[in-house]
Amino acid sequence: MSKDHPLHIYNSLTRTKEVFSPINPPFVGLYTCGPTVYSEVHLGNIRTFLTFDIVYRYLTHLNYKVRYVRNITDVGHLLDDGDIGEDKIEQRARLEKIEPMEIVQKYTNGFHATTQLFNLIEPNIEPTATGHIVEQIEMIERILKNGYAYEVNGSVYFDVKKYAKEYNYGELSGRKIDELLEQTRENLEGGNEKRFFADFAIWKKASKETIMKWNSPWGIGVPGWHLECSVMSTKYLGKEFDIHGGGMDLKFPHHECEIAQSVGADGTNPVKYWMHGNMLTVNGTKMSKSLGNSFLPMELITGNHPLLEQAYSPMTVRFFFLQANYRSTVDFSNEALKAAEKGLKRLLEAIHTLEKIVPSNTSSVDVDTLINKCEASMKDDFNTPITIAHLFDGVKMINTINDGKETISNRDLEKLKQHYHTFTFDILGLKNEGDTSTSNNQPINELMGLIIDIRNQSKEKKDWATADLIRDELKKLNITIQDSKESSTWKYEK
Ligand code: AMP
Ligand code: ZN
Repeated sequence: MSKDHPLHIYNSLTRTKEVFSPINPPFVGLYTCGPTVYSEVHLGNIRTFLTFDIVYRYLTHLNYKVRYVRNITDVGHLLDDGDIGEDKIEQRARLEKIEPMEIVQKYTNGFHATTQLFNLIEPNIEPTATGHIVEQIEMIERILKNGYAYEVNGSVYFDVKKYAKEYNYGELSGRKIDELLEQTRENLEGGNEKRFFADFAIWKKASKETIMKWNSPWGIGVPGWHLECSVMSTKYLGKEFDIHGGGMDLKFPHHECEIAQSVGADGTNPVKYWMHGNMLTVNGTKMSKSLGNSFLPMELITGNHPLLEQAYSPMTVRFFFLQANYRSTVDFSNEALKAAEKGLKRLLEAIHTLEKIVPSNTSSVDVDTLINKCEASMKDDFNTPITIAHLFDGVKMINTINDGKETISNRDLEKLKQHYHTFTFDILGLKNEGDTSTSNNQPINELMGLIIDIRNQSKEKKDWATADLIRDELKKLNITIQDSKESSTWKYEK
């Protein structure tokens, strides 16, 4: 680790960039909220997962020993993201006329196939909410014992008003409790079980129709959505850990409630650095399943969507996202994606050119400064767009050396090669997919080859659900897979 530039991380809690100082170096605990597996992940979700993939990769590059935990939400996330409405997974199970756990399996498998496609590194632990019901009940008991929750008719609610008298509820999201207070009376008149508008369910009584439900000291019910992350992050990373991430839209209520639950149960906010990735938008509106403006990975890589002018490879998309700061919104645009496609091609071509360069006795170029600049921008809160800009300065340098206008020594050439491999492939996680142009069918052929490979791997592991999901989703896009003993081929029919 270079002593000159300490890593700085923007902490959403203090709203400042802070020098990163792990609780127990060289170990780092990193938790990020994973998907709710009731449908396929869309491109917006992928952007957030990519943000924390970069955090994980760069911390690892700095020689930290990172324990990366990303959960799977397989129960408790209701349709309104709060306490009202049906569980998203149960609703989907009803619509597809299958078991909720089949929905969970199907979309978890699909999620894993997608993360492979976008080269997202697997977390060290991927815990599920349903696998931690006992711990969730224990946490509710601690919150009740400490007086920050109350039971009503088989449900348990977190007492925000009581909590806010002693602690700063709203410290993460900046929401003011006074503003919430004004809405209280109105809401209570509606016969709500809650004492206060901002109270939230940590255990919800199950209806007769509910399929996924568990016994508890308060009767048969389901844990509240926010509880799983409080429980699983601290179970695997300790009562106090380094980094908690998620999308900006989770700051409130999800993460604000996580803090309240942990403080209510154990007296501490467990997280040292809260990090939030900003949203992918379409014409300025957040990409979201419910708004109908989302693209699925398959739509993107086949180009089969009204908003897409062509197909884009997963690496083009990855590069497109990395050209923006993770704290800024990114608006979807065909122009920007096409530019990313060209940019990535230029970068990869320069790496190829490096292999052809013949070194001289001396260097007329300054390789060390370039390397230091890339490290410095990454250490400035993982600033990937600036890092990529430096890499492009280096591309110019590589091309002028190749043209014979500048010289490079053998030592510097090896350093430069190492630098480009480390930054492009290990830290930015890009992959050489061959020809990234779309002037012919080459990228589609390669992508389909990749998808068929993933499907074959699933079949080898007897993971029939993923294999079938891939086949069925391709079918929806008019792509048929034909399996024979020796190989699988594909056909596209309009
Ligand atoms: P969900 O499956 O809805 O719980 O979301 C999984 C992750 O994707 C969360 O961290 C969300 O904050 C994030 N997310 C959802 N929509 C978007 C979007 N349009 N852009 C970026 N991240 C998003
Ligand atoms: Zn979470």
